Amino acid sequence: MVADSATYVGRFAPSPTGPLHKGSLVAALASWLDARAHGGQWLLRIEDVDAPRCSKAAADTILHQLEALGLHWDGELTWQSLRTGLYRAALDRLIADDFAYACACSRRDLEDQPLSLDGTRRYPGTCRDRFDVKPRAWRFRVPAGDLTFDDQLCGPVSIDVARDVGDFVLWRADGCCAYQLAVVVDDADQGVTDVVRGTDLLTSTPRQMLLQRALRMAQPRYAHVPLVLDAHGEKLSKQTLAKPLDPRDAVSDLVEALRFLNHAPPPEAIAAGRDALLAWGIAHWRLSACTRAPATTTT
Ligand code: GLU
Repeated sequence: MVADSATYVGRFAPSPTGPLHKGSLVAALASWLDARAHGGQWLLRIEDVDAPRCSKAAADTILHQLEALGLHWDGELTWQSLRTGLYRAALDRLIADDFAYACACSRRDLEDQPLSLDGTRRYPGTCRDRFDVKPRAWRFRVPAGDLTFDDQLCGPVSIDVARDVGDFVLWRADGCCAYQLAVVVDDADQGVTDVVRGTDLLTSTPRQMLLQRALRMAQPRYAHVPLVLDAHGEKLSKQTLAKPLDPRDAVSDLVEALRFLNHAPPPEAIAAGRDALLAWGIAHWRLSACTRAPATTTT
């Protein structure tokens, strides 16, 4: 099921911790094409909530890269760093409804815990039922049991968040709102109906759904597209210093991303230039074709 064109709102939400690379282009292009093929809106949100890791220079580079690629967005650009009040209000609601609790544990207190799905330490629930806690951070009280959802590309996904992640952080000890809360508040506030992003975020989705339920917010449809891997089978990422997209290579990068998404453009669409290539992509877009990543790797 897809939203009709009048109601489709998609988004791309890069974190400005570095420039876009071929992996981020695949996610951006898939969400842009899905929005455009539905005649919907495509919003751009700069996820600079993690202030210590983000920079204005990286955000400017990302905007310049998207413009060079012809991936134009609708409406006002959104900056998470300007929306702290909204996130704080959501946290206050979660605290009032007893979905959130104060946590005094430091990183060191948790260093013997097993790693959770996202590489952080699984929280053992130390502060869950304490009332004498001087808050360092705020955590979500995760209900027991599996959360299952139907991803448009990955099919049914089932994760036991309590077992595999534990009570996750909503508000960090350094005063920053955590990604999971900010993204849920923003997607709801911006009326996002369709989230198309990389499978690196697949295991975050159940956490976001738990928050949507607790905050009584609408739940978007989700589609997680395959990740671009390097020659070692690792996800391309800013951390592994993936090569930034060069605005001068916009057409060849778009062709490569389209091929990766199993939408190989014919030579005449490539020769016709960037905007004609994107128009070809919109006309031929089938989200369901993006399930199998071709076995090629790129850097
Ligand atoms: N800001 C996240 C990132 O750059 C993406 C968030 C999302 O699409 O939900 O990985």
